[in-house]
Amino acid sequence: MKSELNWGSAPIAWGQRSSWFDPVTDWLSAETNSDEIRSLRRQGGLELCWGELEWRDVYENVCDVEFETSAQELAQALCDTSLRVFHGCRVEDASVFLEQGIRLNDPSELEARARRLACLAPHQESLLQNLEQFVKEEDSFNRDIGALHLALDDRELIGDCSHYALYGSEWILSALGWSAHSLLRSFGIPTIIEVEIPIRDVSPAMRKALSDQILQEWVHFSINQPDWVPVVDFGICLRKPIPPSQITGHYHPKSLVDVFHEKVVRTTAKSACPSCA
Ligand SMILES: [Zn+2]
Repeated sequence: MKSELNWGSAPIAWGQRSSWFDPVTDWLSAETNSDEIRSLRRQGGLELCWGELEWRDVYENVCDVEFETSAQELAQALCDTSLRVFHGCRVEDASVFLEQGIRLNDPSELEARARRLACLAPHQESLLQNLEQFVKEEDSFNRDIGALHLALDDRELIGDCSHYALYGSEWILSALGWSAHSLLRSFGIPTIIEVEIPIRDVSPAMRKALSDQILQEWVHFSINQPDWVPVVDFGICLRKPIPPSQITGHYHPKSLVDVFHEKVVRTTAKSACPSCA
């Protein structure tokens, strides 16, 4: 009989493995073949990349339960705890998030901001033309409406998805076009906002995907015991705004690789905003 999953008081944080690995290990203890896991560890682990789905077969070899069954149970149990997630953006002062939280994407508001920014550029006419064209296309205008985007792993936001911190809103970036890049980089400071959300606010499909990710890494780490936590490309789309009470911190990455411009490294002169003081 499986024990209750006791998450403790801290949120699940992907980068702090013990926050989820230890509770899951206790939860699975009655179904785990510890001798088999120890034997595989003694042999130096398995030659299988951490991201391979074959880890799910390995799971079924070392646990007396199907991966899918455990993943569904875990997805349900995740509703009882919270998750540390991150939001990449470019702002002058991160205190705006402490006052307003993170709001859902509102195309009318984004259009107004894009227009204000475009008017500050010497080549404003072409930028405004891009914007007019973008808002005319309904699919473009309404993309991301009523949603907000978060990442499970902040290393992704300073790595392959650094464009949020380098350029800010993806909607404005798309609306103004390529020729607005230097303009958009001239305002604000690259910022990563740290957030703690109740996992019950995440859609059931996303919760299941998170559960799959956790269980797969659970078996990978149990056997191979690497001294690193894999960087995961795991985005979370939320359909409700984040209140200020769920904002738990922020930081400003000093340098970012720009994937839009041949991976040039962009360093920001300003490394602190008024809210850092
Ligand atoms: Zn700051």
